[in-house]
Amino acid sequence: MTGSTGFIGLGAIGRPMAVHVAGVPGTVVWNRTAERAREFAQETGATPAGSIRELVEAVETVITCLPTSAEVMEVARAAEGAWRAGQLLVDATSGDPAGSREVAAFLAEAGVGFVDAPVSGGTDGARAGTLTVMLGGDEPWVTRARAVVAPYAGKVEHVGPIGAAHALKAVNNALLAVNIQAAAEGLAALVQCGVKAEVALEVINASSGRSNVTENLFPERVVTRAFPRTFRLALLDKDLGVALKVLEETGVRSGSIRTTREAFARARAALGEEVDHVEFVKTVEEASGVEIR
Ligand code: NDP
Repeated sequence: MTGSTGFIGLGAIGRPMAVHVAGVPGTVVWNRTAERAREFAQETGATPAGSIRELVEAVETVITCLPTSAEVMEVARAAEGAWRAGQLLVDATSGDPAGSREVAAFLAEAGVGFVDAPVSGGTDGARAGTLTVMLGGDEPWVTRARAVVAPYAGKVEHVGPIGAAHALKAVNNALLAVNIQAAAEGLAALVQCGVKAEVALEVINASSGRSNVTENLFPERVVTRAFPRTFRLALLDKDLGVALKVLEETGVRSGSIRTTREAFARARAALGEEVDHVEFVKTVEEASGVEIR
């Protein structure tokens, strides 16, 4: 039994996740830009809350899907005094382990449980309800969180204590970013050598250098020049920062992740907060004077 659920953060991935949650009667939603919550409620039958506090008072479980752990803490504090013992916060944000432990400690004072529950699979996976969900936390909260995330999950894995799921998600996304940078540099060079990008990708994807980046992102988004905006570069830059912090805290020396973090930070400064993560490729193209197509 999970009781009623409140969903906070109807952004690019939060919204399609919340659509599945709203399939369960009694779902309440809140979004900073209230118009988005009203429009969502009209479409799905969920109830829009007038404030974070109102949402927390109305439900047993809260799901957050916000940019960083800092906003999750803001939300937790906004309902200070309204949290009740036995409630659970399931945080789908790609947050940071230390930030999660702080949120968990704050909620624990009111007897509220916390599970970090970041997702992978992108906006397509969210729409399909097939996201991979990593859970960090203690029993019995984790068992309850499994039921809460089930409407949008294809795979659910309990990976360790509070913060462990956020660490894993950050490392996964660091690998994504390293792959984007390496593929962009390699393909820019191959195009200069006279190899068509499509041909290069076909060969790489039948060889040992293939990855999700070469199999899906480059053919669908770069070669086509479509560059859809599904996951902001600024958020991937944030994930690289979290991954670096995890490496630092564990005493692991970083080479490639650090280099990629520097490149993504430069791209973020040059391209702004709204561009998609794959648009990073444009910075490599510009620097090398070639289009990857
Ligand atoms: P978006 O930037 O599209 O949405 C962010 C959401 O957070 C919006 O609902 C926004 O409200 C809200 N928000 C921002 N700042 C605040 C604040 N100070 N207080 C309250 N609400 C706030 O992000 P995504 O939906 O893409 O990402 C959400 C999380 O999921 C991130 O941690 C991201 O890294 C992760 N993620 C994203 C994926 C993707 O493919 N997009 C894939 C996997 C993980 P408003 O509508 O008012 O702007």
